Amino acid sequence: MIRALAGTVDEVIGVIAAQGIDADIRRCDELVLAVTPAQLARAQAAVAESEAWGGDAAPARLIGAEEARARVDVPGILGALVLPGMARIQPAKLVQGLARAVEAVGVRIAEGTTVTAITPGRVTTDRGTLRAGTVLRCTEGYTAGLPGHRRGWLPLNSAQLITAPLPAEMWQEIGWQGHELLGDLANSYCYAQRTREGRIALGGRGTPYRYGSRTDTAGTVDAGTLDLLMARLHRHFPALRGHPIDHVWCGVLGVPRDWCATVVFDAAQRIGFAGGYVGVGVATSNLAGRTLADLALGLDTPLTRLPWVNHKVRRWEPEPLRWLGVRGMYAALKAADRAEARSTAPGQSHLARLAARMMGRG
Ligand SMILES: Cc1cc2nc3c(=O)[nH]c(=O)nc-3n(C[C@H](O)[C@H](O)[C@H](O)COP(=O)(O)OP(=O)(O)OC[C@H]3O[C@@H](n4cnc5c(N)ncnc54)[C@H](O)[C@@H]3O)c2cc1C
Repeated sequence: MIRALAGTVDEVIGVIAAQGIDADIRRCDELVLAVTPAQLARAQAAVAESEAWGGDAAPARLIGAEEARARVDVPGILGALVLPGMARIQPAKLVQGLARAVEAVGVRIAEGTTVTAITPGRVTTDRGTLRAGTVLRCTEGYTAGLPGHRRGWLPLNSAQLITAPLPAEMWQEIGWQGHELLGDLANSYCYAQRTREGRIALGGRGTPYRYGSRTDTAGTVDAGTLDLLMARLHRHFPALRGHPIDHVWCGVLGVPRDWCATVVFDAAQRIGFAGGYVGVGVATSNLAGRTLADLALGLDTPLTRLPWVNHKVRRWEPEPLRWLGVRGMYAALKAADRAEARSTAPGQSHLARLAARMMGRG
């Protein structure tokens, strides 16, 4: 599974090249920064886990403070996890390029049409009913809005900001010449990329969840979430205080109860679905799409034998437990970060362990 996922980066790059899609793609490492002893301990545990799975499939290595600072100068850096084999991409350009490529070979894409129900061979929309031999549902974080799926994948908010382009002097101060994907090992982590135009795009969670699995479709970010993103941007890049932010937006991720993505196909009803990528679906959705295609065509391939195929996930708890659980988990994660920032001990905070258990990952 790990090898299939790692290979998907090459697959996406190959398709982009073959189709002539300009999606700002660039091969790079991911650097996951540790700025507290507890974060450094998590980095060491991640390396040990990678080695236990066979380091060749997902090689991860730890670098010390000096080497990390030479790659990107973040205050108080203690070390970083280096994950090779990644790629930076502009996902909106990828999706638009793929849409053009499939339309060019005759596929019809119907936008601005809301699906309200799916039954075998039949898809009901707000603009009429479609009939199809095979129906594949790929609605990810929005799936909870379909009848019968309210307690399926939980729609978790994720928000991003993007700065105005940084002048060359600022890049010199920060470093980041390898254009690595950046993350941190905070419990309420953030992630960032250096874009083609020399901006920083930084994302994180903010307000995590709306009662009743409701989703926002406007992409508007609340003031509290923006404050959190700005605080993290300035924590890691103090030189950016006062530097303009050009745009802020949010969307939802699909989170299964066990945090494991799935690809499922019912050959009798000819309905399939894929998703539950928990925020790492840009490459994963490619692997899932190829797997769903093989399943729908009735093929037996290495992809259809991957362990996520027909994996069963239990449903989330009914409200108000779901809301209380997610809000409680995020409050615990933030409190754990505060406790870890004060502590010199390498151990993970009790609150972080509690939050991991609440997420079903402990
Ligand atoms: C702010 C943010 C940052 C992210 N950062 C990263 C990242 O750095 N790396 C990464 O790998 N992933 C990231 N993700 C997650 C990634 O975007 C998703 O995992 C990925 O887009 C999933 O692809 P998908 O095609 O399955 O679903 P989506 O891209 O969510 O597409 C689902 C589509 O279904 C449509 N749809 C849903 N319900 C209906 C309905 N009822 N009727 C009609 N249409 C419907 C939606 O309009 C949408 O077009 C991020 C997500 C967000 C929101």
